[in-house]
Amino acid sequence: MTNTDFSTLPLGSALLDNLATLGYTRMTPIQAQGLPAVLAGEDVIAQASTGSGKTLTFGLGLLSRLDVSLNRVQAMVLCPTRELADQVARELRKLARAMANVKLVSLCGGSPTAAQTATLAFGAHIVVGTPGRVLKHLQQGSLNLDALNTLVLDEADRMLDMGFADDIRKAVAFTPAARQTLLFSATYPDGIAELSQGLQRQPHTISVAEEP
Ligand code: ADP
Ligand code: MG
Repeated sequence: MTNTDFSTLPLGSALLDNLATLGYTRMTPIQAQGLPAVLAGEDVIAQASTGSGKTLTFGLGLLSRLDVSLNRVQAMVLCPTRELADQVARELRKLARAMANVKLVSLCGGSPTAAQTATLAFGAHIVVGTPGRVLKHLQQGSLNLDALNTLVLDEADRMLDMGFADDIRKAVAFTPAARQTLLFSATYPDGIAELSQGLQRQPHTISVAEEP
């Protein structure tokens, strides 16, 4: 039986108190199975349906490792669409209320690149974006990921469907090899294993079955 109490996790009291404030009392199954490995710094492939609480699973991982005193990008979440990136950004901002002055920047296509570049010049701790636009910033030098410790591919199956595999691989080439890579997906098509092989090291695979 997996323990579903957040307090069993190696999290600081600020994050734990904030979870209680947000009304998150019990871990969902994907959180209970995934968070111990995520917080231990392992690479993880997590498959669970929409609405199962995947954002918190990677969100607590990247926030627990964030050093706000370091004005560098330490975590990046790649999402298939602006709408999904906005959802992730909202959830991460809620979780980050436990920490002072976390700077999260959204880098999605459809917004002016120049405005994003200006925002990045002030520094960022977390980037949430779509692969094409993130790659553009990396190639033009407005985004530096040399201090990245956590890379998240959210909705990886949809990113593959949308043809983002090449942009993802090119963007990841700008990140340190010694990073944690977390891959989240609602389904597990063949392409996911291939993508993982190129990006992850001995990933811990978790799959949570649909509730009947
Ligand atoms: P997924 O990415 O798996 O589709 P989300 O991370 O978007 O799912 O979470 C779905 C909803 O569940 C969100 O509104 C989120 O705030 C809520 N949620 C996540 N974890 C918990 C929890 N442990 N307790 C209560 N609500 C939660
Ligand atoms: Mg999600």
